[in-house]
Amino acid sequence: MDCAQLDRFFQESSGFRLCKDPKKADLIVFKGCSVNQEKEDLSCQIVKVLESSKRPDAEILVTGCVAKIRPDLAYDGREFTDLVDQINRLSRLEDEQNLEANFPYPEFWQDPDGVLDHRTHSQLISKYCHRNPEAPLLRTFPKLHGILIKLLAKYRRLIDKELLVSRRTFCIKVCSGCMGNCSYCAIKLARGRIKSKPLDAVEREFKQGLDQGYKDFALVGTDLGDYGKDLGLDLMDLLEKLVAYEAHFTLRLRNVNPRWLIPSASLLCELLKTGKIGYILSPVESGSNKVLDRMKRDYRIEDYIDAVRKIRRAYPALILKTQIMVGFPGETDEDFRESRDLFKLGLFNYVDVYAFTKRPRTKASRLDGDVPDKIVTKRYRKLLFRSFFRLPLNRRLAFCRLKRR
Ligand code: SF4
Repeated sequence: MDCAQLDRFFQESSGFRLCKDPKKADLIVFKGCSVNQEKEDLSCQIVKVLESSKRPDAEILVTGCVAKIRPDLAYDGREFTDLVDQINRLSRLEDEQNLEANFPYPEFWQDPDGVLDHRTHSQLISKYCHRNPEAPLLRTFPKLHGILIKLLAKYRRLIDKELLVSRRTFCIKVCSGCMGNCSYCAIKLARGRIKSKPLDAVEREFKQGLDQGYKDFALVGTDLGDYGKDLGLDLMDLLEKLVAYEAHFTLRLRNVNPRWLIPSASLLCELLKTGKIGYILSPVESGSNKVLDRMKRDYRIEDYIDAVRKIRRAYPALILKTQIMVGFPGETDEDFRESRDLFKLGLFNYVDVYAFTKRPRTKASRLDGDVPDKIVTKRYRKLLFRSFFRLPLNRRLAFCRLKRR
């Protein structure tokens, strides 16, 4: 989401002209992700691709969590030092004025100029297969591999339609950092403790979006559930303010931790009845209390399920997405079954699945009970099939049946 700020920053504040083709740009700013090993590897690979395809005199600035976690990627030239400072300041949420944002949301595989080559695109397959990107299929049948990637990319865009923010979404970054202490998390190391934007500043941006005719708003933060804790406020204070606006709009809440969702469910249900909150992403991570404890997530799975049930009943049309990690150290077959059973409850419209990877300097990287790779892959694929194919397809079919009636 920081891309939003960068986009606005370059368009409005610094006199740069946006160049869509990285091969022609004077300066390439790449915002990388380091949430897990897969994303970090992909970020590094993209930096390499950009380095090899850029003009010889062009510069690359790498920003985002990956720049902090992988300082070897950091920019060490002189010419753009001020700019790097400003960009870092944007990421740290210190300059409110520059945090207004509506923006194009770039997806790696939506690469109109083909700068990111076949191997980078093959990460799409590796993401869904949890395999080495240099897959045998790529080496033996590159054409078939290419067709498969295109089909998967199309399918993904189809199922992601209602999830992705677009140019028609007005994004407001409301906070950065969090109050959590999750044992596997590297984002916390990069982002630090919660820093919230004052309520009136968020409201000002929201009004600006309404005045510009936006109807789709996304509230964004490292952990939205912790919004306001540093200011003596709560996310509920912000939501109450925004839904009270007499206008036709929908809010998306991206990344609401169960720690907030559970105690706030009843109040949230009242707000949901207004129909103005259309989407919530709340990452549960595991269906097993034992694993949640080791992850230091600070909630019980039964409380989370109760809260989500309440929310579903209050507003059945809500799009609810969660996230599940497989292969956390010490995860047994029984723990995995408990995560898998979450799918059966029919509470979520979408579930993102990802595999645990050791992040440097995290507590989880020192935990015992490593799950063998083979088992992680098996578990990952099992959940993947449900999350990537079964759940969205069932949903689409149900939607088509409804339309026919
Ligand atoms: S809530 Fe946990 S997973 Fe989320 S950013 Fe904070 S420490 Fe990381």
